[in-house]
Amino acid sequence: MAILVTGGAGYIGSVMVDQLAEAGEEVVVIDNVSRGHHAALAEGARFYEGRVGDLALVERVCRERAVEACIHFAALAYVGESVTEPKLYFENNVAEGLGLLDGLRAAGVRSFVFSSTCATYGEPVRVPIDEGHPQWPVNPYGWSKFFMERILESYDRAYGLRFVALRYFNAAGATLKRGEHHEPETHLIPNVLAAAAGRLPHVSVFGSGYPTPDGTCVRDYIHVTDLCSAHTLALAYLRCGGRSEFVNLGNGHGYSVMEVIEAARRVTGREIEVRVEAARPGDPARLVADARKAREVLGWKTQYPELDTIVRTAWEWHEAHPEGYGSRGGAGTG
Ligand code: UDP
Repeated sequence: MAILVTGGAGYIGSVMVDQLAEAGEEVVVIDNVSRGHHAALAEGARFYEGRVGDLALVERVCRERAVEACIHFAALAYVGESVTEPKLYFENNVAEGLGLLDGLRAAGVRSFVFSSTCATYGEPVRVPIDEGHPQWPVNPYGWSKFFMERILESYDRAYGLRFVALRYFNAAGATLKRGEHHEPETHLIPNVLAAAAGRLPHVSVFGSGYPTPDGTCVRDYIHVTDLCSAHTLALAYLRCGGRSEFVNLGNGHGYSVMEVIEAARRVTGREIEVRVEAARPGDPARLVADARKAREVLGWKTQYPELDTIVRTAWEWHEAHPEGYGSRGGAGTG
């Protein structure tokens, strides 16, 4: 029996494929490599280049490889782009996701682990954010993941699909082999490290007037290895007959933009010039997970909760891969 990983050429998906392969699982990847990287694909995984919404492809792959469960990462994940190109997001994240689910259904695959996001909560009314927090996304990216969550619930009721939807907070860090390479890069930690390495002249800090201790936005950073280990546990949970669940993935600790920059100064020993710029529209002041449910339901324990460790692993990867995966487009999962 095999595990189908969509988006296995992306940032988080590629770490997942490595983890599954190391655990002795047979892994099949479907990825259109529109934003991922061929170089990020594990050698042991069987790779099908194509659309996850291609129902016939999905059904064929599932039958050929005897797929028992799917972990679905493939998606577009730029909040800003989703505001200017909502059609792309609803097509890629919702319509393609629906094609995938129907392909799985046709092949009789009933276990599904989904990459959801804290962006489904929208502007928080309380922090830390638990899974019962109201959901009202504030951008099309968040809505696209919200819609997929509702589709999953309906498919569970109607067709017996069992799923774990994992709502990620801020994925960060790297393994020795895999790291974060997006084009364009919009995420904080890679940009801070690019400034430390001299590839960017400075870090732009988007807003310093937020109601937080130092005025910059607070986020809950979670190491990509820990994120993936939660997917492995979700898979085990579904294999044991667990019922469908929505689960936050975060450390439960928030760090401000300035704290991340300080951590990067400590880790790299480099100067990092900072320029305060206008706040990015739609950035909530504080996003921190209440991550108790992941521990209680999945038995999740994080291995790399410290910000310095998260930043150090990202730095080591960037030092070892100064060009990332090369000039091909950026990974689009997470
Ligand atoms: N941010 C920043 N400079 C950058 C990139 C991000 O100040 O070059 C801020 C951003 O406004 C947010 C935080 O860092 O408050 C984390 O942003 P990121 O894009 O990494 O993740 P998000 O929380 O938006 O998913």
